Amino acid sequence: MLTKKPPLLQSFLSLVSRHASHLTRQQYDVIVVGGGHAGTEAAAAAARVGAETLLVTQKINTIGALSCNPSLGGIGKGQLVKEVDALDGLCGRAGDWAGIHFSILNRRKGPAVWGPRAQLDRQRYREFIQSELLSTPRLTVLEGSVEELLVTEPNPEEPGHHRVTGIHLVNGIHPLSARSVVLTTGTFLSGSLFVGQTTSPGGRIGDAPSSAGLSYTLKERLGLRTGRLRTGTPPRIVKDSVDLDLAQLHPPDSHPTPFSFLNTHTRCKPEEQLPCYLTSTTPAVERVVRESLHLNCHIQQDTKGPRYCPSIESRVLRFPGRRHQVWLEPEGVTSDLLYPQGLSMTMPPDMQLRLIREIPAMHRAEIHTPGYGVQYDFVCPTQLSPALQVKSTQGLFLAGQINGTTGYEEAAAQGLWAGVNAARWALSMPQVALSRTESYIGVLIDDLVGRGVTEPYRMFTSRAEYRTSLRPDNADRRLTMKGFEEVGCVSSLRYQEAVRVRDSLQDALAALQALVLSTNRWRKKLPDIPMSENKNTTLTGVDMLQYSDVSFEMLASVFPECLSPYTEFSQRLKIEAVYKPHCDLQKKEIERIQKEENMSLPQDIDYFSLPVSLSREVREILDRVRPTTLGAATRLQGITPAAVVNLLCYVRHTG
Ligand code: FAD
Repeated sequence: MLTKKPPLLQSFLSLVSRHASHLTRQQYDVIVVGGGHAGTEAAAAAARVGAETLLVTQKINTIGALSCNPSLGGIGKGQLVKEVDALDGLCGRAGDWAGIHFSILNRRKGPAVWGPRAQLDRQRYREFIQSELLSTPRLTVLEGSVEELLVTEPNPEEPGHHRVTGIHLVNGIHPLSARSVVLTTGTFLSGSLFVGQTTSPGGRIGDAPSSAGLSYTLKERLGLRTGRLRTGTPPRIVKDSVDLDLAQLHPPDSHPTPFSFLNTHTRCKPEEQLPCYLTSTTPAVERVVRESLHLNCHIQQDTKGPRYCPSIESRVLRFPGRRHQVWLEPEGVTSDLLYPQGLSMTMPPDMQLRLIREIPAMHRAEIHTPGYGVQYDFVCPTQLSPALQVKSTQGLFLAGQINGTTGYEEAAAQGLWAGVNAARWALSMPQVALSRTESYIGVLIDDLVGRGVTEPYRMFTSRAEYRTSLRPDNADRRLTMKGFEEVGCVSSLRYQEAVRVRDSLQDALAALQALVLSTNRWRKKLPDIPMSENKNTTLTGVDMLQYSDVSFEMLASVFPECLSPYTEFSQRLKIEAVYKPHCDLQKKEIERIQKEENMSLPQDIDYFSLPVSLSREVREILDRVRPTTLGAATRLQGITPAAVVNLLCYVRHTG
């Protein structure tokens, strides 16, 4: 079921407030600043939790805009999209609505680290997000720019502690008050744009930066530590000017896999999907980069640039002599443009044209919009709690690129969680946290608030110690019940469906576990399956599913009476069975840590010379804090569960 067809954009625009004077109230539970990927999820989540919410953003028609690449998901990022969806967020359903090329990345590896990804139609994505916000009860959208935050002076009994009370708009007559404010200003905080030798204020091409007042409040009044980060985007290319025959065709998956648990299919039919193309740079591209360096102030300031979305300039300077991949990706069903992923650049526009024409498939290409770079302020996220609330300012929450991350998915995940907690704060409900053991969102937030960032943070599966349990296929089982029962951000419709699926999976696994046969009998039932065991032992249906050649359908055809009711879940059951031994082990590990909470840690321990696998960072934290018990070590920011397990083993062994 595809959940909704967005109304026409124009009818949406007429239904939201363009002027603060049209608002029916001046007081809200939650005000969200910024309508990007963090802000839209934050506003929708806060309203779902039950808070009267106002979303204020500079331009209504850029709500849900994809500032850079028109795609969603990928390795690690796809897991975040699935989790946001499991908590009833928007981006998964928007991706299913707007996707025009679906593929599961990393298929050579196990399903735990598959990366669901879709190329998107920019306009459809925006329309979906805008239409969802419009139909969210308790949510008002206002076009406007926030001039500054209203905060109380520090409480004399709690020096340094402020409380947020609302916002002031640029040209606003009256302040708007709120018990919580979520700031999601993306790349707009003191943003500067760079092309060639030109620098201009801006948060994104065509958009002004956030007002200086906002930066002033954060830095000067609230005393928050901030830093400066940079990123960039490629020129957009006129599709008809590219010889796609000279690039390698990259078709989508023949059966698009939806992101959302609620959807069985995507809006785009399999045969309607558009292909992507792969090409690469030539030695002449490198020459153009080198020749234009003196004209490129963005790269002169920092030749490394962001590690995870590097510009072509920094790729060439870091890895001279190599050919670099360039993906040519469609921007939409009716769009005349291509997005050249891998060609983010900040040299002058005439040099950009020279550069792209050095790639055979683009030898006569035309640029529609030149590439550019952006530099912006971020707030060091170690100043936040795991609820994403600024520790020194009650009621102020931060989410998205402002916390030093990069990417829509990272922004959406933080936005949802900040929105949930902002609403709970406003409604006097306790804050909630997600752990590293239950979600990638927990890993993301724990990394940010525990370790901080020195470069734009991007999610990878390798960041999650428990990735075999945190799979894209089981996000609903991990998060939807909690989202409904404890957090309050999940609708009862989704909850009921998640409960039905959970119960069916449990019943199916019990039925498989109850199928206990000798290996000889299994051999007779499934003669084509090569089974390694020579001895005549017994195996359950779950054990059998762990064989790569055995599918659930095969077992259901042999035992239709007990298994055929569950064929709807065959793929999920196969994955559950394959990962069961590993997940059981991990569960025991987690339980072991919980059981050993009170185990004492010797106070004279030399953490730097412990002969166990601990990162330098973890050793430093342990050395600095010297926790007295294992439980205290577990709760330290920046200490991973894997580090705690290694510590536990060491102390057990030596004690
Ligand atoms: P944004 O999506 O930037 O949204 C911020 C919103 O806040 C905007 O709607 C803005 O209008 C609004 N706003 C700002 N200030 C105010 C104010 N004072 N009052 C009211 N509203 C305000 N990501 C990648 O993963 N890879 C890349 O290669 C990449 N390249 C990028 C290149 C460029 C040039 C830019 C601009 C971004 C790039 N990104 C890239 C980042 C990606 O766009 C962001 O990670 C993502 O959009 C962050 O979401 P967000 O919600 O935090 O902020």
